[in-house]
Amino acid sequence: MVNNIDDLISLSKRRGFIFPGSEIYGGLANSWDYGPLGVELKNNIKREWWKLFVQMRTDVVGLDAALIMNPKVWTASGHLENFTDPLIECKKCHERYRSDIVDATKPCQKCGGKQTFTSPTTFNLMLKTFLGPTEESANVVYFRPETAQSMFVDFKQIVQSSRQRIPFGIAQVGKAFRNEITPGNFIFRTREFEQMEIEYFIQPPKKKSDWEKHFNNWLDEMKQWLKHLGINKKNIHYAEIPDGERAHYSKRTVDIEYKFPFGQKELYGLAYRTDFDLKNHMESSGEDLSYTNPDDPKDKYIPHVIEPTWGVDRSVLAAMCEAYAEEEAPTSEKGETAKRVVMKFPHWLSPVKVAILPLLRKPELIKITKPIVKDLAKYFTVDYDETQSIGRRYRRQDEIGTPYCLTVDFDTIEDKAVTVRDRDTLKQERIPVADIVNYLKNKLKI
Ligand code: ATP
Repeated sequence: MVNNIDDLISLSKRRGFIFPGSEIYGGLANSWDYGPLGVELKNNIKREWWKLFVQMRTDVVGLDAALIMNPKVWTASGHLENFTDPLIECKKCHERYRSDIVDATKPCQKCGGKQTFTSPTTFNLMLKTFLGPTEESANVVYFRPETAQSMFVDFKQIVQSSRQRIPFGIAQVGKAFRNEITPGNFIFRTREFEQMEIEYFIQPPKKKSDWEKHFNNWLDEMKQWLKHLGINKKNIHYAEIPDGERAHYSKRTVDIEYKFPFGQKELYGLAYRTDFDLKNHMESSGEDLSYTNPDDPKDKYIPHVIEPTWGVDRSVLAAMCEAYAEEEAPTSEKGETAKRVVMKFPHWLSPVKVAILPLLRKPELIKITKPIVKDLAKYFTVDYDETQSIGRRYRRQDEIGTPYCLTVDFDTIEDKAVTVRDRDTLKQERIPVADIVNYLKNKLKI
């Protein structure tokens, strides 16, 4: 596990996972770009999540809705009125802070001024823009601050077209925008980020245990996902959010927190949103969003909702923090060891599954390596690297978390076999080229 976030930030930049956005212009307010390895890692998370929670379940269907919705959505959902953070400002240097995060009795973190803060005001986090050619208030629209609302707004169309029966869920992966007062801590808090959310619709509960059953099921699902992502459960904390501190729509919320190097903070959330959203959209739009049991037309109701939410970027960050390891490993010199940094990602998560390396940059080796690369790339994300010494190339692959390195040497010309090195055990095995696809499929469980 990484102790200092700066080690991870520098590895991310050096190896092309994540780097500051718009850097040649001095960056922009803690925005980050996912580079060649970062995009693979992030896509692996989104794909695996979709596979587990949509593809492999018959009771969840997907949605990919527009980012910008009719602004009436945000009036009905309560976001225009309630989606706020308490803002305080230092009167001396004008730095702004969230008063629920920063202690206003302490000196300003930027200028050190004492007792200089304004009293808290509410600051709406919705990011505004304009549609159409004029910047009039009639054209004001908002980038969605969560993916959830479209799943309520489209509820009727999804019920009618998918023929799902309650209980069932709608899942969505996509961008959300929040005009955060203090973005920071690398990709932990940004103004543009991605969420993976499910709205799980249930019958209006007759007793508490009716909704708690579904709530606990989703909590278990989230626990299993964390394990799958490689997160050690000792680094996870489940925080029950008390009355008065929950979002305006929630009757119960559990924040799933992770011990990031900069403190224990929210990674995911699970909320019981009751029938708050469907009811409000029904009243505001005049559309009937109730559900009728197909087996009993008299059984008509507004469903209640359990909402598990996963942040994509915070998943990337937690997985990277957790996978980071520094250890002593043997070098090619007998009896000697050297420090290696290795990202011990679960295999499914590694951005590159197999690196294919000719021992030396010799035409006769490159000639037999290239067809192997072409063949393996049909099945796995591969990396081909012919530069530097083999030891340095192994170290590079360790640092990006590649589970297997495959070396082509002069013996390969004769014995038609390659050496496969395992990232974690460092064991090397000689495997016939003809068997390599099956060998890797087996090892990687793909
Ligand atoms: P926080 O208390 O950290 O501001 P929140 O409680 O407002 O978070 P939710 O509204 O529950 O967050 O959003 C659901 C998920 O979206 C969070 O658990 C987190 O993973 C992710 N998320 C929220 N805000 C951000 C952000 N600014 N940057 C990156 N991810 C975010």
